[in-house]
Amino acid sequence: MNWDDPTDATASERLVGASADREDQAVEAALRPKDLGEFIGQEKVREQLDLVLRAARARGATADHVLLSGAPGLGKTTLSMIIAAEMGAPIRITSGPAIQHAGDLAAILSSLQEGEVLFLDEIHRMSRPAEEMLYMAMEDFRVDVIVGKGPGATAIPLELPPFTLVGATTRAGLLPPPLRDRFGFTAHMEFYEPAELERVIHRSANLLDVEIHADGAAEIAGRSRGTPRIANRLLRRVRDYAQVKADGFITRQIAAAALAVYEVDARGLDRLDRGVLEALLKLFGGGPVGLSTLAVAVGEERETVEEVAEPFLVREGLLARTPRGRVATPAAWEHLGLTPPRSATAGNGQQDLFGT
Ligand code: ADP
Repeated sequence: MNWDDPTDATASERLVGASADREDQAVEAALRPKDLGEFIGQEKVREQLDLVLRAARARGATADHVLLSGAPGLGKTTLSMIIAAEMGAPIRITSGPAIQHAGDLAAILSSLQEGEVLFLDEIHRMSRPAEEMLYMAMEDFRVDVIVGKGPGATAIPLELPPFTLVGATTRAGLLPPPLRDRFGFTAHMEFYEPAELERVIHRSANLLDVEIHADGAAEIAGRSRGTPRIANRLLRRVRDYAQVKADGFITRQIAAAALAVYEVDARGLDRLDRGVLEALLKLFGGGPVGLSTLAVAVGEERETVEEVAEPFLVREGLLARTPRGRVATPAAWEHLGLTPPRSATAGNGQQDLFGT
């Protein structure tokens, strides 16, 4: 089971998954900010990008290639659309996994219009030959199309119109340096502060014609894991609850009650996250315990625990990965309302792990 993979039917069960599920894809278009002014948060990225785009417009030139890195759901696709809109250019959207052969990329590149924005999501998952073709396309706006095979193969050079590549990746570190170096502007998208997510929620509520109290927005924001996509999704579920169980108006109480039904807790942990944490605390006294043992205890695959649950638990400072195994932090005991055994707070080596 891949909880964060939108193509996996079970992924949609995860209300706090950061990848877009089918419903997200259907409604997100309506919620996307259309220009930089509407884009909430990410002040640095916005300011820098604004300069890059203004300068390009003033020169009457195509904007430099842009690399956006950051977790899913933080607004990379939205920003690429904004770049196109601000440049008054059309946009073509594709992704690394969709480009298996260099020929696939050549077909896309050769059909671009002058100034068009090409959004390449998950650029780190492109095939190697396509990646090499992209180097030349980015630098010289030309590609060599190879015709034939073996010794008789010939390279036919093809001129391309100038275009702006917007590459998106969840892991900039995975990009080969020659590719990274060809971007004129690189931006790292951070997780959003609760106050920024509140603004996202108010904006979306407005567009969805949902009435929400400031407290209600704050309650949803606190459970959205720093991610606008999750904030918008939780808002929709809370709206449903408010319509069915109340008069449609979202207050703090309604938001909390709705998200309790969906098992998203006050810090945005869902059933899986809490299961991992509970096993770690209740069965293993807070650790250290090996990943495989922990996975068996929660009845999940090793990969699910490691790739789906743990990154957020680590980010929240609830769990630490140490050479000796997984260890709960004092905040984890507190979050689940449990009292750590004396040995967990004094003397079994955890003191050293946390430097307390
Ligand atoms: P990514 O491409 O990084 O996975 P998206 O650009 O698809 O993320 O954003 C997911 C959703 O979150 C969009 O529908 C958009 O409505 C919302 N969103 C993302 N960033 C912002 C923002 N800064 N302000 C308002 N809404 C945002």
